[in-house]
Amino acid sequence: MSLSWLDDEDAAAVEKTRVLRPLKAIRAKCLDCCCGSVKEVRLCPSRSCFLWPYRMGTRPTSKVAQAANEAAQMAEAER
Ligand code: SF4
Repeated sequence: MSLSWLDDEDAAAVEKTRVLRPLKAIRAKCLDCCCGSVKEVRLCPSRSCFLWPYRMGTRPTSKVAQAANEAAQMAEAER
């Protein structure tokens, strides 16, 4: 798996330990889900996916978390 999307410090840490930090692991999973496309991860429409708020590899803002909660509630109501 290419680690080109990691900054130099994170890439060096991964090379040394072979372990990604949790947010970076989620980012890697989302890139895998979108065939490596950074743009497709950003545009992911699956707001009910539990990884969605974390897909950019950072802690979500309260606004993003609220959007994910609302989407999850709507998806739950449709079941
Ligand atoms: S948020 Fe879920 S559906 Fe969207 S890219 Fe990540 S893993 Fe895939």
